[in-house]
Amino acid sequence: MKLTRINKTYGNKHVLKDITLDFPAGKVTVLVGPSGSGKSTILRSLNFLVTPESGQYEFNDHQIDFSQSISNKEKLAVRRETGMVFQDYNLFPHKTVLGNIIEGPTQVLKMGKKQAIEVARELLAKVGLADYGDVYPSELSGGQAQRVAIARALAMKPQYVLLDEPTSALDPELELSVLKVLLQLAREKQSMVLVTHNMAFAKQIADKIIFVENGEIIYDGNPEEFFSQD
Ligand code: ADP
Ligand code: ADP
Repeated sequence: MKLTRINKTYGNKHVLKDITLDFPAGKVTVLVGPSGSGKSTILRSLNFLVTPESGQYEFNDHQIDFSQSISNKEKLAVRRETGMVFQDYNLFPHKTVLGNIIEGPTQVLKMGKKQAIEVARELLAKVGLADYGDVYPSELSGGQAQRVAIARALAMKPQYVLLDEPTSALDPELELSVLKVLLQLAREKQSMVLVTHNMAFAKQIADKIIFVENGEIIYDGNPEEFFSQD
């Protein structure tokens, strides 16, 4: 997955300044940098929640020029392969945990309900919530809700999981449960792009570090080198 010479402005504010980045498959790419530097905007460009004014996007056989309009068909195809996890979970409040997880597989992938539930139960076990299928989101802690959101993203079997500060709303003791799940996914070579402020975690999980400042890429390379600088 690759972005080439991307520009994004809001009003007269140049938020992404001609940036070029690649996000290797099977690896964890972590975006770090000050608040407001453009990390979320980069992440959201990868599944067209944000559309830059110019630049190219490459993913599998999708070659997109952002200065042209993107067809709905292409948007859907890309979104199906890129599961997004947000800071505030975004679970459907009126659906149970299982209901949340099977929504995508049944509605989008047209998977049968029985099979979708089976998949959902496996994923719930994987994120340490095997007994929570019938619970509603309001009954979950933040850490549990975020693990459900991760299971929901994984249920679509996306090639990439995109995570926008997935633990910054959580207390440290709840954060750990989510970090463990992400470390497990990293060991399984799940392709991920992650925005985080947690530098210790970035150091632990990243295969590649991108430091963004004021809409520009200040560092793009291996974590060992990045974290050995001061
Ligand atoms: P980060 O994720 O690094 O905190 P963002 O990508 O969220 O940064 O934001 C980069 C800049 O773009 C910030 O100045 C932010 O206020 C601005 N911005 C982001 N989204 C919008 C929007 N929808 N409208 C106007 N400005 C925005
Ligand atoms: P994040 O946690 O991704 O940094 P923010 O709190 O910066 O999110 O932004 C939340 C939402 O508000 C996003 O959709 C973003 O695009 C939008 N947004 C951010 N900054 C601005 C802004 N200055 N003006 C308008 N919308 C903004």
